[in-house]
Amino acid sequence: MTKNTNKTIIAHRGASGYLPEHTLASKAMAYAMHPDFLEQDLVLSKDNVPIVIHDIHLETVTDVAQQFPKRSRTDGRFYVIDFTFEELMQLQVTERFDSETGEAVFKDRFPLWKSKFKLHSLQDEIELIQGLNKSTGNKIGIYPEIKDPEFHNNEGKDISSIVLKILSDYGYKTKEDKCILQCFDAKELKRIRLRLKSELFLVQLIEFKEDEQYLKDYALYADGIGPYFKQLIKNVDEDGNISFTNFVKDCHNLGLVVHAYTFRADQLEGIPSFKALMGLGFNKANIDGVFTDFPDQAVSFLKK
Ligand code: CA
Repeated sequence: MTKNTNKTIIAHRGASGYLPEHTLASKAMAYAMHPDFLEQDLVLSKDNVPIVIHDIHLETVTDVAQQFPKRSRTDGRFYVIDFTFEELMQLQVTERFDSETGEAVFKDRFPLWKSKFKLHSLQDEIELIQGLNKSTGNKIGIYPEIKDPEFHNNEGKDISSIVLKILSDYGYKTKEDKCILQCFDAKELKRIRLRLKSELFLVQLIEFKEDEQYLKDYALYADGIGPYFKQLIKNVDEDGNISFTNFVKDCHNLGLVVHAYTFRADQLEGIPSFKALMGLGFNKANIDGVFTDFPDQAVSFLKK
């Protein structure tokens, strides 16, 4: 079951198209689909444990509002950082939902509030992946993201230093160690390389077209760029033919790989099929990797 290309598949929040995002069940399922990396978004608990969760808030994927109704801040939101690891372990996790209406964000995905899912730490997830690497003989990597370092800093916490120490303790120290560290905050990723002296493979995530002007600065410390895929599109003509900007080429000229997000089979936004979307990304835009909620479909595309 090996791919016949050097393109990279990253299981975005696990096999999140099939099971609630960032649960260990979703990670185990994703692992069995043979991606190159599994992704971990990281937010610190009150007692400094990196929790694998996408948002700094809890109420869109857990029952926190039922279990701890009095623990929201004045904005009405429940923050991971206000809860200890032990408290977070009590929460039930489910598919992402709209906390106002209670409706699922992706209506055809795993049903809300069924079965039993929990939050977990970065260490828990590394041990799952390293354990599976041992028992299966595969070498699947990790792809952690430092979430909102400025928010953490305002709360008096240095999330990057805490995460780097754990990664190092588990053997992830250099670009050879199958670990890619990502962050949207350019100042922080630069600090991770220059001040914290990390030798890991670093990917600068970007969200807006305007960010592209800083490409040369990114190249001073990062090894890759993670753009929003739609940002690479230059034009769609009357027949629906899509052309791409020179951004990927510019990245490659600077020695940067491009891992674009997010490829979803149930959110195609006008593109006829997931296969067509993969073809556009890998063949036409010439990106090097994809973050996808459907790692099985991305792996099977590359095997063709
Ligand atoms: Ca992420």
